[in-house]
Amino acid sequence: MSGEPQADCLFCKIVAGEVPATVVRETENTVAFRDINPQAPTHVLVIPRAHYPDAAALAAADPQAAADVLTEARNVAEDEKVTDSGYRIVFNTGSGAGQTVFHAHAHVLAGRGLQWPPG
Ligand code: 5GP
Repeated sequence: MSGEPQADCLFCKIVAGEVPATVVRETENTVAFRDINPQAPTHVLVIPRAHYPDAAALAAADPQAAADVLTEARNVAEDEKVTDSGYRIVFNTGSGAGQTVFHAHAHVLAGRGLQWPPG
């Protein structure tokens, strides 16, 4: 798997600036932006710039980019000042687990009580 941009991928279009998003952080390998349909007061998506369909494929093909996504998820939590109250990092992987956009992404959720199990 090459990581090349895919013409029909929404998040590749956000990386390219072709679809607007509220970007909160950027690095060489990642972009972080607010979810359009937030499920918590803090709901930020952290994505690799490279296109891989899910987190497992990303980790297999580019472990450094996968690590960068996790590091940026932590940095988002620090920026949002939620490290003390707690936050959740979620990688929905596969449609059966609720994945709807098939470009790897971490959800960073915080700012309200988060139930377990998540449902
Ligand atoms: P998934 O369901 O694949 O784990 O997460 C995809 C997320 O992308 C959803 O939480 C959804 O609200 C978000 N999303 C879908 N379309 C857009 C968009 O155009 N802009 C932004 N910022 N988020 C989007």
